Amino acid sequence: MAVLDQLTSQQAIDLENKYGAHNYHPLPVVLSKGEGVYVWDVEGKKYYDFLSAYSAVNQGHCHPKIVGAMVNQAQTLTLTSRAFYNDMLGKYEKYATEYFGFDKLLPMNTGAEAVETALKICRKWAYEVKGIDENQAQIIVCKNNFHGRTTTIISFSNDPVARKNFGPFTEGFIKIEYDNLQALEEALENNDNIAGFMAEPIQGEAGVYVPSEGYLAAAKALCEKHNVLFIADEVQTGIARTGKLLAVNHEDVQPDILILGKALSGGAYPVSAVLANDDIMNVIRPGNHGSTFGGNPVAAAVAIAALEVVKEEKLAENAERLGKIFREELSEFAKENELVTLVRGKGLLNAVVINDSEESETAWNICLKLRDNGLLAKPTHGNIIRFAPPLVMNEEQLRDCIAIIKKTITEFKK
Ligand SMILES: *Cc1c(COP(=O)(O)O)cnc(C)c1O
Repeated sequence: MAVLDQLTSQQAIDLENKYGAHNYHPLPVVLSKGEGVYVWDVEGKKYYDFLSAYSAVNQGHCHPKIVGAMVNQAQTLTLTSRAFYNDMLGKYEKYATEYFGFDKLLPMNTGAEAVETALKICRKWAYEVKGIDENQAQIIVCKNNFHGRTTTIISFSNDPVARKNFGPFTEGFIKIEYDNLQALEEALENNDNIAGFMAEPIQGEAGVYVPSEGYLAAAKALCEKHNVLFIADEVQTGIARTGKLLAVNHEDVQPDILILGKALSGGAYPVSAVLANDDIMNVIRPGNHGSTFGGNPVAAAVAIAALEVVKEEKLAENAERLGKIFREELSEFAKENELVTLVRGKGLLNAVVINDSEESETAWNICLKLRDNGLLAKPTHGNIIRFAPPLVMNEEQLRDCIAIIKKTITEFKK
């Protein structure tokens, strides 16, 4: 077998199993092509993508404008490192900071790196601006959070699978209940060493948990009262996914530090960023932080195009409208189908909770049947299936998908 011979699905799966580390448990489907809301497997079967690479592909697969920008820049200049200036980064930083309403942007590559960056900025701000004693800063985070996979980030995860045997862990984090303002207030009170509060505006990986209305705005107000930075991890919820440009926009909240990734490139390239105003970002000086690839010209060109697509194609408005239809239709369906407990979400970030235990295989088995019926989705935790299609979907396609989901669940036998 030559290295680049066309494989069958089984051959591709066998190769990954034998030669790749087993750090994921993929749904058995092998994709070889994508366009808009569709992907194709190596045998040529077509599917609706209802995961969008965890909301990275909001702009749809292989968006011509984004791919065009990438190819064009890749043929011109790919990487200079930050040892030198390049003629794309500044343009991107100006565009993105105006787009999201911040003074400055710090470019990184992956979501986890951007979270790490935000934590470092927050700590440095705490020592140099707020005046916390050296090494005493604490950052409040939420239970059941997902912020990525680095050693520091898993230090404040409470997922045993993500943590077990990866210690010792990074100190300086306080975990509180999500969507609980009293818990936040208690953590902030009588503690002068709190530097920041970091949260996902909707907990995505945990199972699309939407906090109570007003939670984010009240949390931000509490942070302001205590001179604590409000850090929004919008890596999954950001960039039109929930029906607004940012999920915090539903409550008119401007975070002190904003973390973006995933759809910042439309899934074409690893691009992440941290945004903040000068009073915070200026604590970062040469040598404090960096990344060889962060802010490279391809990433800059791709991100500008990806953000332009969001505005030009009104993806936030589309997500808002289609999300309502999705939840209405499936909530109705849940009333008459005993396998579906409820549907929840915002915009096109939704979850269907399956009426079975967390440990059951039911949600996984439903996803296998959905695959057979031409729609790809995956459980987040145990009995919860996340439904997050590309935001370029139209109503006819969405109604087609709703029909597939209803039919699959109706016909499903445990
Ligand atoms: C996916 C995700 C991350 C991590 O991003 P990576 O690019 O996988 O490192 C961080 N925060 C949230 C909320 C995410 O959904």
